[in-house]
Amino acid sequence: MRRVYLDNAATTPIDQDISNMMFEMMKNNFANPSSAHADGRRSKIIIEDSRNKIADLLNTNSGSIFFTSGGTESDNMAIQCAIKDYNIRNVITSRIEHHAVLYPLQDLERQKKIKLSYVDIDDKGEISKKHLEELLNKQEKSFVSIMHANNEIGTIQDIYFIGDLCMQHNAIFHSDTVQTIGHYPFDLQELNVDFIAASAHKFHGPKGIGFIYISEKTTISPFLRGGSQERNMRAGTENIYAIAGLAMAMDIAYANLEKEKKYITSIKDYMINKFKQEMPAVNFYANCADLDNSLYTVLSVNFPEHASSEMLLFNLDIKGISCSGGSACASGGSKESHVLSSILPGSKRPGIRFSFSKNNTKDDIDYTIAKLKEIYIS
Ligand code: PLP
Repeated sequence: MRRVYLDNAATTPIDQDISNMMFEMMKNNFANPSSAHADGRRSKIIIEDSRNKIADLLNTNSGSIFFTSGGTESDNMAIQCAIKDYNIRNVITSRIEHHAVLYPLQDLERQKKIKLSYVDIDDKGEISKKHLEELLNKQEKSFVSIMHANNEIGTIQDIYFIGDLCMQHNAIFHSDTVQTIGHYPFDLQELNVDFIAASAHKFHGPKGIGFIYISEKTTISPFLRGGSQERNMRAGTENIYAIAGLAMAMDIAYANLEKEKKYITSIKDYMINKFKQEMPAVNFYANCADLDNSLYTVLSVNFPEHASSEMLLFNLDIKGISCSGGSACASGGSKESHVLSSILPGSKRPGIRFSFSKNNTKDDIDYTIAKLKEIYIS
């Protein structure tokens, strides 16, 4: 049976060239990069070349890039280390952050180590800049964690503005950029940010690898202690193949960024119009249908009252379509999405997230709409 994959915000398929390269490297470059012999030095060079490539693409110094196991570890590292090392009490975030941000912050709040405030958001998921400014306490150094783009509804925050505001208030700014690295250009010389987080599997790289950017002006102690890898900042033998795969995925993503953005936007636009023409009772969450003001990879849709998101997802899956209800973690269970309930409290309409990649076609969309119509008519 045909399968259509529209769950690219959860993860993207790895590019074949990347998996081929990694497979060859696994056979040929097995030496431990910490070993002083020639084989070890070759592995070390692969890691440093990868770091340099990533730093160049983001216009920063390679010394600011540290490899981690992905977005979750990078978010946890920034939050836990910066709050501890800078002795921070005043922490500001939003209710629509990924759980990789919310859970460590809520743990610290439960332990009474921080005072956690949530910046107001509107029904599009956009933060109130005025409220953020009010929360930034000039007397006390604050830590702010606001994501660049939301993985469920695709809302994009103005992180350049937030970064400048944080700088004016001497606050530390962390942004979860997991959904935008590899999809949007970044200039880290221009962006005032202390930490950003990235994950290779969101842009056709391997899973379990990512990085944290730590600005030169910010110093934290290591999150994982042990060996002296990553200049003592992240202990553990490096996953050389995955690091090389991450760098190659970044290279491909940024070399084709504009072309792919245009193509994926056209797929999203096609689906929006299909819904408008063929299923007019469907609504779009937040700014989703505004192509200039939302993540071009995400279309979050609100269906007429009919069945739960779980039933709809189950029926779509049976018909060969993979997508999510809210975030991937929420899609497996019956837990309501914290993002959707934050922007539209009390809504009973099932929410489904379709998310796109360069591999999707208009035919995938036609197939999906046809199957959705069958579900709604039956
Ligand atoms: N932050 C956001 C916004 C995400 O979408 C995800 C992945 O779903 C993560 C963090 C976690 O990233 P990883 O899967 O690399 O741990």
